[in-house]
Amino acid sequence: MNRDRKQSYEERSLKGIGYLRVPAFEQAGGIRHAFTTRKHGLGARTGGNKTPGDWDAVANAFGITPDKLITVNQVHGENIVRIDARGLIGGKIDPRTIEADALVTDAPGIAVGVETADCVPILLFDPGVPAVAAIHAGWRSTVKKIVSQTVVRMGAEFGSRPERMLAVIGPAIGPECYEVDGPVMGPVREAFYHWEEIATSRGKDRWGLDLVKANAKELMRTGLVEQNIHAIGLCTACRRDLFYSFRAEGRTGRMLSMIMIKP
Ligand SMILES: [Zn+2]
Repeated sequence: MNRDRKQSYEERSLKGIGYLRVPAFEQAGGIRHAFTTRKHGLGARTGGNKTPGDWDAVANAFGITPDKLITVNQVHGENIVRIDARGLIGGKIDPRTIEADALVTDAPGIAVGVETADCVPILLFDPGVPAVAAIHAGWRSTVKKIVSQTVVRMGAEFGSRPERMLAVIGPAIGPECYEVDGPVMGPVREAFYHWEEIATSRGKDRWGLDLVKANAKELMRTGLVEQNIHAIGLCTACRRDLFYSFRAEGRTGRMLSMIMIKP
């Protein structure tokens, strides 16, 4: 991961929507991306209940109609869906009815987004196509290597190449706040030969798990260049002034991480 650029995010506000972005991620041009925060009470649902209009204000702020901001029914799995120019799957299926944890598209003016409150949001951009992806990686999808599966899928769908792809990892719970036990560490050990680099022992059957690092390493294994992997570098549980944290707060809101090829 490009740790030099770890703090290179900037806090912005657009029509009342507070969000973070990483300028270096957009330097290739042609896209917009945002990680919404809890500031201004916008960009997140309240009480943990999803309503259809949750992200309408975000879509409006970024100059698109709400039907062009696409999210799916996230289930901590490994299903990846391709969104077409109409904001649908294959021209007819509404993505909101589909269980998936990653969205890919090459359609300009279509924003793909994932909702998180501790889990790792990851945005990918291949300027050569162009094509983009939004990925939701909790520990289960991280173990299923959803990031590398998405990179491979972008290759199959769009001819994307990992060596020219850019990634940004959004705000997620840090290892100091994310303590896990055997039932999580078992699958982590099986999935990652380097598990000792992403988990720190905290005593008997307790580990601090670094999901951001796990996903960054997985992106590199898939062929992304280290300098092209950016990270916001903030912990959702430590920074509850900025973010919602499911671990720290229980029932809470969600942030949206979105990316769009400019229309
Ligand atoms: Zn923390």
